[in-house]
Amino acid sequence: MRPLPLRVRLTAWYAAILACTFAAAGGGVWWTIRESINRTVDQDLRSRLLALRRYLEMEMRENGGPLLEELAEPAAFLPSGADYRIADPRGRWLVQSPASRKWAPPAPVSSLPALGRIETIEAGGESIRLLSAPVPIGTAQLGLPLDAFEKMLGRFTWTVLLASPLLLLLASAGGYWMSGRALEPVDRIIRTAGQIEARSLSGRLPLRGSGDELDRLSGTLNSMFARLEAAFRRITQFTADASHELRTPVAIIRTTAELARAKPRREAEYTQALDRILIESERTSRMLDDLMLLARADAHSMDIAREPLDLAEVVRDACSNADVLAEAAGIRLEKQPFAECAIEGDEPALRRLLLILLDNAVKYTPRGGHVTVSLRRQDSAAEVRIRDTGIGIPIEFLPHIFERFYRVSKDRSRATGGTGLGLSIARWIAEQHGGEIRVESTPGAGSEFCVRLPLA
Ligand code: ADP
Repeated sequence: MRPLPLRVRLTAWYAAILACTFAAAGGGVWWTIRESINRTVDQDLRSRLLALRRYLEMEMRENGGPLLEELAEPAAFLPSGADYRIADPRGRWLVQSPASRKWAPPAPVSSLPALGRIETIEAGGESIRLLSAPVPIGTAQLGLPLDAFEKMLGRFTWTVLLASPLLLLLASAGGYWMSGRALEPVDRIIRTAGQIEARSLSGRLPLRGSGDELDRLSGTLNSMFARLEAAFRRITQFTADASHELRTPVAIIRTTAELARAKPRREAEYTQALDRILIESERTSRMLDDLMLLARADAHSMDIAREPLDLAEVVRDACSNADVLAEAAGIRLEKQPFAECAIEGDEPALRRLLLILLDNAVKYTPRGGHVTVSLRRQDSAAEVRIRDTGIGIPIEFLPHIFERFYRVSKDRSRATGGTGLGLSIARWIAEQHGGEIRVESTPGAGSEFCVRLPLA
């Protein structure tokens, strides 16, 4: 079953809470009114009892007892409006007003407290507040009808019962309208967000500037769209760059093969063509390896091991590989003493990182130059520095050299067989180890790459 719209659910909750509040408030007011009616009537009954006692005491003192005829004429000693009756100690009624004949007989005088007991009784179809109390000549009962008050209370109850549903209906309609207004921006967010798709990720939700929750929601969604857009653009760019980069070697391989086949050639020419094809194929497969690694890194499907190792060993190992390259390029590779640095990491990945930097240093340093490698401990990090006396990198290119496919000069990179992916892989490996790579360079004088990795 489809859940009800939020607006309807909000209104239903609102109406339910309001109904409970009405019921509690109505009940509370009803009870308070009834209590205050009883209190007023009881006070009246007690003051009448006081007047009756005073009259009887005076009669006892002056005449040895009241005259029954006088007792039957209460106007002299009692404020009018109440019924009453008086019995002697043996329970015989000395005087009874007509209405009081319907009342229940009083409890034995001995069980009555000095101030009397007040209760509500039903007599002849009406409610009476009845006070029974001891008086100098026996027991008195004084009663006041509650009818007028009960009618008032009844009217109040009916008014509340009839008005409540009406008020509830009005308030619910108001609540429905209000929640509609409050949710209207949410509807707008849903509509706009629905229009933003992969092809048009540049769309943004409008901000009203109120700074409320909905504005913050729009802001959060907007920054999510911005991140998605950036990621999407990076992927598109990456794919475009990758296919562009792959096209060149493939085109070279194809043209070389086509030219070689065009007419019969000498063996040396065939060998030359095949060498060319071999070089370009190697370059292509290297690039494919790098692309694969970066794609797996992007998909977070590549695990970097965290094994305890001595970084000095890895640097030494990488240097002995680079020695061969340096020698072939006529460059001196100088190793300064390596400090022992215990770190946790992935040995093959770290070796790859160092080889990328060493390979670059050799590639971009002219014959006769030299490359210096050092490893030392600095604060709580191991620091590998690879300095060369090569061509250097102009300052305006420095911020970009770690980007994918970025090459300072396509020609010089192509001549050295570079793909422009090396440094982005190196940086990724360093970051996976919780470290970083920094570079300083002076064009014409050389560059220094510094890798910092946290010590174990
Ligand atoms: P490539 O495969 O082209 O070497 P990298 O990502 O390794 O790609 O390097 C990016 C660019 O940075 C290179 O094209 C090169 O111009 C520049 N670069 C890297 N290392 C050095 C260095 N040691 N000296 C001069 N330039 C360098």
